[in-house]
Amino acid sequence: MSNFSRRDFLKTGGLAGLLAGTTLAGCSVAGNGSSGNWRGGAKNVIFMVSDGMSIGTLSMADQLKRIQYGTASTWMSLYEENRVKRAMMDTASANSIVTDSAAGGSAWGCGVRVPNGMLNMGANGEVYTPILTHFRNAGKKTGLVTTTRLTHATPASFIVNMERRGNENGIAIQMLERGADVLMGGGDRFFDGEKREDGRDLFSEFASNGYHVARNKQEMNGASSDQPLLGVFTQEHLPYDVDHRNNPDLAANVPTLAEMTDKALQQLDNRNGFILQVEGGRVDHAAHGNCVSGLLYDQIAFDDAVAVALRFAEDNPDTLLIITTDHGNANPGLNGTGSGYLETQNMFMRLSEFTASNAVLLPKINRDSSISAIREVIEAHNKIAISVDEATMLRSAMRREFRSAYSRQSSTGAVMGGIMANHTAVSFVSGAHTSDHVELAAMGPGSEAINGLVHNNSLFNLVLDAAGVVAG
Ligand SMILES: [Zn+2]
Repeated sequence: MSNFSRRDFLKTGGLAGLLAGTTLAGCSVAGNGSSGNWRGGAKNVIFMVSDGMSIGTLSMADQLKRIQYGTASTWMSLYEENRVKRAMMDTASANSIVTDSAAGGSAWGCGVRVPNGMLNMGANGEVYTPILTHFRNAGKKTGLVTTTRLTHATPASFIVNMERRGNENGIAIQMLERGADVLMGGGDRFFDGEKREDGRDLFSEFASNGYHVARNKQEMNGASSDQPLLGVFTQEHLPYDVDHRNNPDLAANVPTLAEMTDKALQQLDNRNGFILQVEGGRVDHAAHGNCVSGLLYDQIAFDDAVAVALRFAEDNPDTLLIITTDHGNANPGLNGTGSGYLETQNMFMRLSEFTASNAVLLPKINRDSSISAIREVIEAHNKIAISVDEATMLRSAMRREFRSAYSRQSSTGAVMGGIMANHTAVSFVSGAHTSDHVELAAMGPGSEAINGLVHNNSLFNLVLDAAGVVAG
């Protein structure tokens, strides 16, 4: 455990004793920004999260990028060039050794481990001030950028207090009330008055609070930095990168994570500094679904956003850049294949031919599809000729008749993942989050304290200390 700071008294050794730090965060969530309540070395903080990223995901994305595009991933080149401090981070929540994204994000967002499913609130209704409020009160700008719905757990964990992460209608309202200088992602059904159950048109309410509201990439690019920016680009989550690239309409209208990150940094850069969270949120979704193309190309798209953040940090050395994940998920890996493992790379490279994620492909087949139709759809999108046997297994999974020894591997997604593993050599252990310790990398002021094993909730104090932002 690193010796972070004088105020780092939230160290917790296990699932017990987690409430030790509850007095720190206080309960006030209101209040507008006053000026200059900061004095740390880190004027700016960029907090990058690849959600649900097991170590295999990080490794394979780097390997795929090297083979397919001829360059290392930015994240791994930071290791290769020894430019970052690095630690393992544990990921437990208050009530489980395996966290969900709400509790995982809240550990960073308020410095306290909370129960799974809750956002910056304790089991007995304790309310912990979220990190963006502290930064705003210190006169800094704040921003959240994600590929999920904007109201999803990880962005929400930096700005809201909510008993249930599923209350995304309520999360959108708290985002409006608390305000941030940049908010970008998907999920317009929680902002559009025609789609919200209470009929409130949050787009108009944001606009009357002075926001530039962007509904596509062009409108995002048209925003000027003297106005706060709300960008909501899709009804649900943003598309997986592999689907985004292969759909001209999406490619033209929906920004990539790197483009959103670039725009957010332009909006936020100011004399007093800022905090920005950037989430590659669908890495997690692809892991849940055992979808290898969704997983690795979204991790590469996240890495492109890391490159944008890194360029900013190079130009602005008073920036603390943190790159991490909230938990492992499904622990995918590239399995040695063939005599002497020599077939592995050829099989792995088949991924470069994939043109769709399972989210696009699987809805085109169903329990009544013919075996030949199933084979044709997969060949059309993934350039892989699955066997009659494999297609039969997939159909039987869709009919809920397939049984694997590990019951979680009997679902359609898991069977599709297993079939793709026969052809790409990438397999998953489940469709669930795991307890694995995860990678934590950082550079810039405050990063010196990162080494060894870090508890996830300790990052809250580390960030506040680095930026000299006083909680309270
Ligand atoms: Zn998840």
